[in-house]
Amino acid sequence: MRSSISAFVLSAVLAFAPAFAAAQTRTPEQFFGFRLGTDGELAKYPKVVEYLQHLAKTTDRVKFEYLGKTTMNNDYVLAVISSPQNLAKLDRLTQINRRLADPRSLSDQQARSLINEGRPFYFLYATIHSTEVGNGQAINIIAHRLATDNSPATREILDNAVVLLTPSQNPDGQHLVIDHWYKTKGTQFDTVYPDLYHKYVGHDDNRDWFMFTQKETRLNIEKVQNRFKPQITHDMHQQGPTGSRIFVPPFEDPFDVNVHPILAIGQATVGQAMAQALIADGKAGVAWKEGYDMWTPARQYMVYHGQPRILTEIASVDLADPFVNPDGRPIGPQEPRWNFPMPYSKNEWRLSQIVDYAVTSALAGIQHVAKYRTTWMDNFYKVHRDWVNWKGTPYAFVVPASQRDPMATREMLEILHLAEVELHRATAPFGAGGKEYAAGSVVVKVAQPYGAFAKTMLERQVYPDLRIFPGGPPKPPYDVTGHTLGMLMGVEVDEVAQPFSAPLERITQVTAAPSTVPMHPKYAYLVRPESNAGFKALAQLQKADVPVYRAAKAFQSGGATFAPGTWIIAPTSAATKILQTVARDTGVQVAATDTSPGVDGFRVKPGTRIGLYRGANNIPGGWLMWLFEQYGFNFQVVSARDFDGDLSAKYDTIVFPSGLSRGRIVFGLNAARHDKEFAWAYGVGEAGWQKLAAFVKNGGTLVAIGSGVETAIELLDLPIEKALPEAGDRRSSARTMPGPEMDRLLRDAFSSPARLMQVLRDRVAEPESLFFCPGSLLENEFDTSHPVGFGMPASWPVFFNADQAYRIRPGFGIDTHVVYRYPRQNILRSGWLLGEEYLRDQANVVSFRVGRGTAVTLGSQIDFRTQPRGTLKLLFNAMFHGPSSEVSAAQMQQIGTN
Ligand SMILES: [Zn+2]
Repeated sequence: MRSSISAFVLSAVLAFAPAFAAAQTRTPEQFFGFRLGTDGELAKYPKVVEYLQHLAKTTDRVKFEYLGKTTMNNDYVLAVISSPQNLAKLDRLTQINRRLADPRSLSDQQARSLINEGRPFYFLYATIHSTEVGNGQAINIIAHRLATDNSPATREILDNAVVLLTPSQNPDGQHLVIDHWYKTKGTQFDTVYPDLYHKYVGHDDNRDWFMFTQKETRLNIEKVQNRFKPQITHDMHQQGPTGSRIFVPPFEDPFDVNVHPILAIGQATVGQAMAQALIADGKAGVAWKEGYDMWTPARQYMVYHGQPRILTEIASVDLADPFVNPDGRPIGPQEPRWNFPMPYSKNEWRLSQIVDYAVTSALAGIQHVAKYRTTWMDNFYKVHRDWVNWKGTPYAFVVPASQRDPMATREMLEILHLAEVELHRATAPFGAGGKEYAAGSVVVKVAQPYGAFAKTMLERQVYPDLRIFPGGPPKPPYDVTGHTLGMLMGVEVDEVAQPFSAPLERITQVTAAPSTVPMHPKYAYLVRPESNAGFKALAQLQKADVPVYRAAKAFQSGGATFAPGTWIIAPTSAATKILQTVARDTGVQVAATDTSPGVDGFRVKPGTRIGLYRGANNIPGGWLMWLFEQYGFNFQVVSARDFDGDLSAKYDTIVFPSGLSRGRIVFGLNAARHDKEFAWAYGVGEAGWQKLAAFVKNGGTLVAIGSGVETAIELLDLPIEKALPEAGDRRSSARTMPGPEMDRLLRDAFSSPARLMQVLRDRVAEPESLFFCPGSLLENEFDTSHPVGFGMPASWPVFFNADQAYRIRPGFGIDTHVVYRYPRQNILRSGWLLGEEYLRDQANVVSFRVGRGTAVTLGSQIDFRTQPRGTLKLLFNAMFHGPSSEVSAAQMQQIGTN
């Protein structure tokens, strides 16, 4: 019996083994029906997912997992690739990573043993940017090679490393872009998808790595980064078609000092291993230390979590069709430089080359990590060991218990918690840095595994004064320069330099502050205006037809002072339920009063109808769409079709996001080049433009943000003008130039003295009119008695991203009111600002009466990527105040009796 079982087991094993033989595994070419990288052909995302499953089924080196659903309900997936032995002990290997990532109480000897036992995890993902399709093709070849190849090089990878492979960081975009391309190819329509390739944030899906707003960001972080604790992450991109053929690390300056030096050098090492493999393989046009910097955490979660960030940027083609240099000359710069030793000599570039460069570079990176397995494990350990032993300044950050906005405070702590930063709550009062803190205050110590993330997010950024040449114009950063989270969120955070002791307990779950709703007041509920939670409540109260008012002035009730803008809510049973829910979710305090406070007020228009004029492929508009959905506002995206009728029949308020120009409104998408599904974004013509102006003059509300303010000025002839020097504008446009393009400009500039002079004349202002502010936090002073400033503190930093400041000019027939302005001094709070004197005393937000309507202009992007939560209420106030109606104190008496 016994022997027959063994015989059975043996025969089963034998029968089973051929199932894993490479012979049954189809190559990508066999599976997809064409050779990946063929001009004009693209593997579609669902088929790519199937292919990874096919590899998992037919080999013993691949584990496949669905990790969750994306924004548009597609599958976000992961393939784990390694030797069968490593896959069998994946839990143990993960556990080792987790232990080394938090080496407190780990002896050097224990660490050594884990380092020897462990395997570095290399996390590889493609197509976060959906038009960068070549990498999404290459990923199949990489997976197939690792799953089937038996060469010593592949064996070494499989034995020594674990590859985490996500075929797309934005699957929705793969559907949108590739489906659109197949649908329009050979028709009169444009093959390039004309709208955002991520439903809400488009290209900014790679700017979400500290705010974690989108589902895909969270899947990446929660289901891969935090779970496996990889040693390295490789994010595959494509750049424009005309520069270098591929960028690999190291990066340009500046570099955030919170990135551990071991990680900075790790990036350079892997980047150079890639460069070596590419160049040795005859692949020309490899560049490093060009264009891309590593300043903002919006682009890099991994470097604050123990891993180098490997960015590859391969030159693009015409989506899947070849790119041919129109002038017939070789593509890209032709002078060899030390960081670009081998120029590319051909005048055309194909999809197959993107695929080849991607495969070579990714495998070189993985191979390097596998070859130096213990070095990588050891470095990973050392980075975390150094952070947990942090003895520098500051010692900690303290978030005082009492905050203006409990909702924003909770959101901020949730961000830190999701990034696995340890938070502690004080169980009793304590003193630190010469200040007394109440029980409930939160302490964030820097000495902890992810102290790097905590420190970079909570401290003030001091951006280095980088110039193109000494004394010359500023060198633009790749992205923005200030990201101090407390300032963005509207939360007070103190930096404490010296060690202190306090009675602390670890926060295991971030919850809203406890808040109860008083029952059955005779007159009304009161909600203070300082919290964004008031708007969460408003959206629901409007849906339930509960009358909502705002006090025009400060008042006293129950011995407490309530600020102007306090929400006064009719005490219906629906209101009670809604306020209970909002209070529970946000921690906002709800008060009640049995008597009218006796102040004038405003009645918020029931069911206020918001129109978001987002425009096709306008990222700020996409962010606002996401934001308005989060709050549950009654809004619609403005469509060209709305102009068939009366705009006021549909909207009370129309919002112009930054980036919405007159051209986008009047001309919009060309109907001849874009099919009816994009009809909403067609131009509305001059007649439509006039209709928009009439909408405001006849009583509508227009709210414009950032560059949308210029559009509003043009539409309504608003009596404000730019306060920043003309050069500031030009400098701003240089700021928005992509890094590689800027680099080429500079290279061109230095090619001859005459050329240099011309570029300097074009791009560089005289030093006396130098203004430059690329994404920083700037102090503003608020008129909190004005309805647009309701709930703001007297001063607080706002986000400024190459925006404008304004001064009032006499405007016949238009009443203006400056709601907030720049102070006289100390304007820069975080980031980089040159030419502060131009901002002094200038206006940022202005409210106008235009005919019977209202316009509000928010000059700087106070909603930038929805990150400055502390200033969002300026936008919300403006949106809801315009359509509201004035109510006298006497009329306010009636609320409770309704
Ligand atoms: Zn990209």
